[in-house]
Amino acid sequence: MPTHVHVVRALLFAMAALPAFEQRLVAQPGGDRARSIQAGESCPPGTTEIRPRSCLGPEEAAPSILDYRPRSTLMAPAHAVRRARYPVIDFHGHPQGRLGSVESLAQLGAELDALNVRLMIAANNISGDALKRTVTTINSSPAMKDRVRAFTGISLQNVGPGWAERAVAQLEADVAAGAVGIGEIGKGFGQSIRKADGSRLALDDPELDPVWRAAARLGIPVFIHTGDPQEFYRPVDYTNERWLELSLFPGRRVSPDQRPGFDELMKERDNLFRRHPATTFVAAHMGWHANDLGRLGRMLTEMRNVHVDVGAVLYDIGRQPRAAHDFFVKFQDRIVFGKDSYQPEEYPYYWRVFETRDDYFDYYRDYHAFWKLYGIDLPDDVLKKVYYKNALRIAPRLPQTGWPR
Ligand SMILES: [Zn+2]
Repeated sequence: MPTHVHVVRALLFAMAALPAFEQRLVAQPGGDRARSIQAGESCPPGTTEIRPRSCLGPEEAAPSILDYRPRSTLMAPAHAVRRARYPVIDFHGHPQGRLGSVESLAQLGAELDALNVRLMIAANNISGDALKRTVTTINSSPAMKDRVRAFTGISLQNVGPGWAERAVAQLEADVAAGAVGIGEIGKGFGQSIRKADGSRLALDDPELDPVWRAAARLGIPVFIHTGDPQEFYRPVDYTNERWLELSLFPGRRVSPDQRPGFDELMKERDNLFRRHPATTFVAAHMGWHANDLGRLGRMLTEMRNVHVDVGAVLYDIGRQPRAAHDFFVKFQDRIVFGKDSYQPEEYPYYWRVFETRDDYFDYYRDYHAFWKLYGIDLPDDVLKKVYYKNALRIAPRLPQTGWPR
């Protein structure tokens, strides 16, 4: 009857004859589930390092990352925050169809009230007649007329001779019609959009300069989303932090051979920001540098005209509560709240990260992040700036009255 006991006995007997050093390599529990590795090597697939240079595989088949859902036994103070402590401006709003009628606006108002979001900017590139219709609908709702605003867009198709004059004229008309800024300029800019001559439209193309200068003259911010998270540009292997997302949504993968790559794209973006110091830029998603606050801090220190929104990078803020707290305090005048994807039930996760000291709580989307979040406990003065004061300053065409001091 060959049992584990027999196998282990046989192993122990064999090892007794070995010198001590070799015994350390071989004397591990688990029989054929065990492996030894050299210093600097990784354990082979299906095993984990249980002691220095000793790897072991589990006796049961391991669950996939989809099916492993451990319940935390941590008992720690937990503070759900349904409503933000101060009124909020959502600088990165995508209110879907809710701007289409007075009734759907009323629905939006009720949802925002429950969260204490007082004002949403639709960052949907609404221009021309569509903008006029939207502004008319907003103005015909007494309850919502000071609670929603729209950014206009820049048509980046066919940039070439004559383009800048047309774009600036449209921009001036849209601002006259009520647009409070430009955006969100999408991630196709710099990656897929082509010029009239067929070449790639670079972020820092000088043919666009008249538009950025016009934004400065009109006193409106330019909200721009550049590229994707850094991991999207890396091979989708088991070292990739976003493996699950890139496997669920293969369309989000960027080939590692694509040009420009992540760093080239960011370099072009920074050239653009640098060349127009009088224009206020807001880099969406913390410029995709929330995982590298040192880099983002250098960028904000050098370029005084640049701000960031926090949309869809809560997983990076909440996994480094001490560094993020210090960063938000240091750059408290340069960060605006923005949510991006409109899911009312997700906003309270932001309030909890910003307003509490809670430890180790769930994020709302585990394909973004398989880790837990922590509160960064921002002081009230910083919260007010991030929630509304900075947005009111950089977008002066927003309704300026009725906000707490
Ligand atoms: Zn967006």
